[in-house]
Amino acid sequence: MDCIFCRIVRGEADTEILLRTEHLVVFRDHRPQAPIHLLIVPVKHIRSINDIEPADTPILGEMFQAARDMAARLGVAQDGYRLFVNVERGGGQVVFHLHMHLMAGWKR
Ligand code: AMP
Ligand code: ZN
Repeated sequence: MDCIFCRIVRGEADTEILLRTEHLVVFRDHRPQAPIHLLIVPVKHIRSINDIEPADTPILGEMFQAARDMAARLGVAQDGYRLFVNVERGGGQVVFHLHMHLMAGWKR
């Protein structure tokens, strides 16, 4: 299976990792749709939200905590930010390795 996010997780791509924990990595989207556009990606290859199992639920909480921490680190926590997950093709998903988008930094 050739999954770009698995390659990034394994450190095989030329991608700067902003945060790495045991269970997830955070890096910048290479086609940003906002001044700040990060991807929060579990280490485990899970195709989409449709495929999460009960044992995966802690990672979902960790993804939100990572989002909160990155927003604070980048100074956008108070201004605010968007978190979203696209699910399958109809939901706009194009990379089939679960990920959460964090967007922020628009002028008020
Ligand atoms: P989605 O539509 O939710 O599947 O979003 C996938 C996102 O991954 C898109 O915003 C892409 O720009 C981004 N993306 C795809 N490949 C890479 C990569 N190698 N490095 C960083 N971002 C990527
Ligand atoms: Zn993967």
